[in-house]
Amino acid sequence: MTTFSTPDLIEDLAPLVAGPVLTGDDPRTADEVAAFNTTHTPRPAVVVGATCAADVAAAVRWAAARGRAVAVQSTGHGLLSDLADTVLVTTGRMSTVAVDPVARTARVGAGVRWAQVIEAAAPFGLAPLNGSSSRVGVIGYPLGGGLGPMARRYGFAADHVRRAELVSAGGEILSVDAATDPELFWALRGGKGNFGIVTELEFDLVPVTSLYGGGIFFPGAAAADVLHTYRTWVQSLPEETTTSIALLRMPPLPELPEPLRGQFVVHLRYAHLGSPQEGAALLAPMRAAAPTVMDLVAEMPYAAVDSIHMDPTDPMPAWERGATLRALPAEAVDELLAVAGPDVDVPLVMVEVRHLGGAAARPARVPNAVAGRDAAFTLLALGPMAGPLAETMPAITQSLVDRMAPWAGGALLNFLGAAGPDRVLGLWDDADRARLLAVKHRLDPTTMFSCGHALVR
Ligand SMILES: Cc1cc2nc3c(=O)[nH]c(=O)nc-3n(C[C@H](O)[C@H](O)[C@H](O)COP(=O)(O)OP(=O)(O)OC[C@H]3O[C@@H](n4cnc5c(N)ncnc54)[C@H](O)[C@@H]3O)c2cc1C
Repeated sequence: MTTFSTPDLIEDLAPLVAGPVLTGDDPRTADEVAAFNTTHTPRPAVVVGATCAADVAAAVRWAAARGRAVAVQSTGHGLLSDLADTVLVTTGRMSTVAVDPVARTARVGAGVRWAQVIEAAAPFGLAPLNGSSSRVGVIGYPLGGGLGPMARRYGFAADHVRRAELVSAGGEILSVDAATDPELFWALRGGKGNFGIVTELEFDLVPVTSLYGGGIFFPGAAAADVLHTYRTWVQSLPEETTTSIALLRMPPLPELPEPLRGQFVVHLRYAHLGSPQEGAALLAPMRAAAPTVMDLVAEMPYAAVDSIHMDPTDPMPAWERGATLRALPAEAVDELLAVAGPDVDVPLVMVEVRHLGGAAARPARVPNAVAGRDAAFTLLALGPMAGPLAETMPAITQSLVDRMAPWAGGALLNFLGAAGPDRVLGLWDDADRARLLAVKHRLDPTTMFSCGHALVR
């Protein structure tokens, strides 16, 4: 394998790109590659801070000529490995957001986060289909499906992608949509970063300005009552209502409100697209399930959407393992409580169940490769990768998923956690797996894009 020295890069690669080119040992590299998930410290051989599609294409061609793997990073919310020896393209400088209020679409550069789209769309009475945290990058999320707080009404974010600009392994800049390359367009929306680097994405916005939503925290002692009420209650909800529930072991951090600090709590997340009166009436059975610690559900502007899940905002070392559930019968809830309930000493920070169905269960208008649509719920176990837990957390999260195996099916790619090609390919049936691999072999015959959730390595 070629090693790179700074003079080689300056002479060779730097003149080809407008953005910075850094070697792994450059003191500026640590800031350039800093990720939200600090479980891994990126150790690429070279970093290209791309400013435009031409920069990305130049970096890919340069890496291809030297037989190097290419990785891409926007925010590092989905960092799954240390990217050792890769040519890493960082996209943070590609920050354009353009909203077309008439077509109800947004066109964004590869480094944009959802918060920027929410802000740009709001003046037109529109909103994007972002996920639980608006700090997540726009591109990686829909490429892996994209399940957000309006999922039961509008489906996956991938279902609303209209066009992508993509740099292929050959360094070509392609415009990909349902007409130009239907198979690649199908695979890209659900098959993640396996086919190239997306430099621009165009997608639908939806006419939403406000929600009746937020979170309710229940005490850990009420976990059984709350979870059993939840599993029957969700069956009665309309598609306008998207919910999830999480068992949270809150850290003893001073910035947390006193009733939550260091406590085991159950967190119901609620988003209703309709009148506050209707939203409150639908929520009443959960409000009656147990006394609450904090009830934060109210009418709110869409721009406050992060307050539904209250995801962490500071970088942290985390490990996650996810699955989907075909159903959530009483026995499944009992098992979940037996593995991760308030009486169990287990270092999982969060065990989350999201309710699927509605539009998330229907194929997109232009079908795509999103896996897991047939599931009823998602399941996610997440814990810290700090101190001795860094050794044990992968097994702890896996063990929770294993215990839920009687009800489990596949997984959503965005919630799978770190996994090799066998596990990733296992999310699709034989026919879709063959379709994905055919597109992969056509677009990336030498497997340059093998980081992240790789189909082939
Ligand atoms: C706090 C938090 C909340 C989350 N909430 C949700 C949620 O509600 N719903 C949901 O579905 N997912 C959710 N996720 C998962 C998230 O959508 C994925 O981890 C996603 O890949 C993150 O994308 P990123 O660009 O921010 O991260 P990065 O780590 O920068 O990228 C992750 C991967 O995305 C792909 N990618 C990124 N940019 C490009 C590009 N330009 N071209 C091609 N591939 C690219 C690559 O495979 C890359 O390895 C959440 C994750 C976190 C940490």
